[in-house]
Formats: sequence, C-alpha cells, structure tokens
Amino acid sequence: MNNTKISTSLSWIEVSRENILNNIRVIRKKIGPDIKIAAVVKANAYGHGYHEIAQILEDEQIEFLAVHSLEEAFILNEGGYSPELLIVGYVPYDQLNEAVESGFHLTVYNTDTIRQLEKLKTSKKAKIHLKLETGTNRQGIDEKELPSFIGLLKNTKKIDLIGASTHFANIEDTTDHSYAQSQLDRYKEILAEIENAGLEIPIKHTASSAASLLFSKTHYNMIRFGISLYGLWPSKETYLSYRLAGGENNLLTPALTWKTKVAQIKNVPKGSFIGYGCTYRTTADSKIAVLPLGYYDGYDRKLSNLGYVLIKGERAQVRGRICMDNIMVDVTNIPNVKIEDEVVLLGRQDGDVITAEQMASWAQTINYEIVARINPLLPRKII
Ligand SMILES: *Cc1c(COP(=O)(O)O)cnc(C)c1O
Repeated sequence: MNNTKISTSLSWIEVSRENILNNIRVIRKKIGPDIKIAAVVKANAYGHGYHEIAQILEDEQIEFLAVHSLEEAFILNEGGYSPELLIVGYVPYDQLNEAVESGFHLTVYNTDTIRQLEKLKTSKKAKIHLKLETGTNRQGIDEKELPSFIGLLKNTKKIDLIGASTHFANIEDTTDHSYAQSQLDRYKEILAEIENAGLEIPIKHTASSAASLLFSKTHYNMIRFGISLYGLWPSKETYLSYRLAGGENNLLTPALTWKTKVAQIKNVPKGSFIGYGCTYRTTADSKIAVLPLGYYDGYDRKLSNLGYVLIKGERAQVRGRICMDNIMVDVTNIPNVKIEDEVVLLGRQDGDVITAEQMASWAQTINYEIVARINPLLPRKII
C-alpha cells in the first residue's frame, strides 16, 4: 500500500498536501477550536492512501483517525501517528484482545461484546464508544437493550466508556433535514438516559461530513470528517443546502489526481472495431491511444464508450469496452500525442478537469465509490 516505486508504475495517484490541509483547516475554522476531529481514513483514506493522509495530518492536532476494521487500525498503527485510532466497524470476539492491547478505541453496540471485553485478561482497559440506534438501523444499540448496557457498564472494571455516537441516515440525499432532526432528538434522549443513570460520556459524536458542514448542533464535542477532508461534497443536496444557508463557493478543494501514460498509439482505418465485443466502430480514419489500466485498477467498466480522459489538456473519448488492464481512447483530433505522454483519468490537467462527481454520474454511482475503489496497489504520491 505504501508502494513508492512511482517511476515504474503504469498508473498512479497524486495527493495534494496543500488541498488536504486546506480542507481540514476550513472545517476546523467552521466548527471552532473546542470540537475534536476524527479524520475518517477507512477504505485506504477514501482511495487517497492510509499513510499518505495520516502523514499529511500529522501536525494538524487531529484527535482520532477513524477506520472501519481492526486490519485497517493495524496498518495505520505501523505508522506510529499521533492521533488515537477509532474503529467504527465490528470487531469479532476473537480479535478483541488484540484490539484492546493495541489501545484502539472500539465502537460497541452488542451487550455480548461488553461481556467478552469484561472477560479479557488484558493489561489495559478497553476504550469504548457506544453506538446508539437513532433510526439508521445499521449498527446501534437497541432501545430495549439500553438498561442492560447501563447495568454492565456501571459494574465494569475493565472498560472505559469514552464516547457515545450515532450516524445519520438521511442528510446526504435530501434538502429536507427533518429525519436527521428526529435522529438528533432521539440521540439526546438516549444520552440523557445514560447520564441520568450516573455514567459519564466524555466524547459525544454524531456528525459526518454533511452534518459537520450544515448543522453546528450536531457537532457536540467531536465530528467524524470523511469525504470532505478529501475535498469532495457528500452530495449535490449537501452542497445546495450549504449554499442556500449562505455558505461560500469553493470551500473544499479535491486533492486527488489519477494519472497514467500512453502505452501505444495506433492509426486505425475508418470502419474498424475497437476492443472486446466490437462495441465501437470508427466512423473515420482514427488515431487510438492505448492506456495501461482498466477495471482492475478501479476504472469502472460502465465508462465503456462513455467516459473521457485528458491528454494535452484536451478530452479524449473512451472507445470500446474498458478491459481489465487496458483502455482505448480516441486522440484523432489531438495533435502530436506520443507514447508515454501523461494522461489524467481523474482530476485536473491544464484548463480542464474530470471530477469524481462527473465520473460517478457516468458510472451510475457516487463520488465516494469512485475514489474508494481505486486499487490500493497503485502507488500514492504526496505532491
Ligand atoms: C464513513 C463514516 C463517516 C464519514 O462519513 P463522510 O460522509 O465520509 O464524512 C462517519 N461516521 C461513520 C460511522 C462512518 O462509517
């Protein structure tokens, strides 16, 4: 994952340090100095590279790096970064021991996990964040189980209750935020129930990027900042809500550029088929450039005959199907394209840009999936 053999790779990712720092500083300014930040770096830091992002953030006084799994926590732990590691996904019983010994914060929503933690013979206390069910119905403590949780936690010797969190179901997909408000109300009620039972909750956190950008009442004392750390808006609706509330343009700056080099140029006569399935046939004598990457690298096959790349600042249309490891693009009308010319698949080149949102619309998905699915084996380079 921290491959540095940049000169030998066929396609690679460049991550702009300046843009990541801009995005974290913008949100810091917005939330104020007293609210902690968990930088969400799951999924290879949304495709940007675990270590690259952790390194860039190292001097930014981030309290947590949040990951999905124990495996991801171990990858980051090797870097020895200063933030603590928070695992937001499930940790199986047989891995709890390792997780606690490593000092990772765990997200807990099953009473059995509490019982398992209580039985561990670890030298350290488990640091846990309760995940409260408020209406997303993904992970979360069921209301009926809350009294058992409270009972277990009041009598524990092996567990430190560090936080309580929830996650909104419907902030990104709408400009009507009443469902989020109902979840927030529910969160408040459950917090009160826990605190009235005499338990303290040092860190309360509910907000992912959309809530962090839109609603200060969701911030409590920590936000979990993911997609927008990378300069991407969670959705059009989030952007629209933000602007309607008077927010400024150009708040966030995308940080990722995906590049490759031309691997072959060929002159193809009018009437020739391009690629598997003969789905494209040239309508004129054409010049085709072959690019050495494909769906294995995360370049979605739905972009067949649909997407374009940038070469010499101009758009070159994808011709034929995306292959596992190759793409063909039309450079007939771009003068002087040569083998090993640099190509931009995602990001900016000269005056033009291909955004993750543009690519997502071609692939019928969201910007999150576009960046998160870029093959982790491709080298990442901080620029
Ligand atoms: C992924 C994730 C986030 C970050 O969400 P963004 O929309 O990317 O900011 C926050 N909290 C949890 C629990 C997550 O799984």
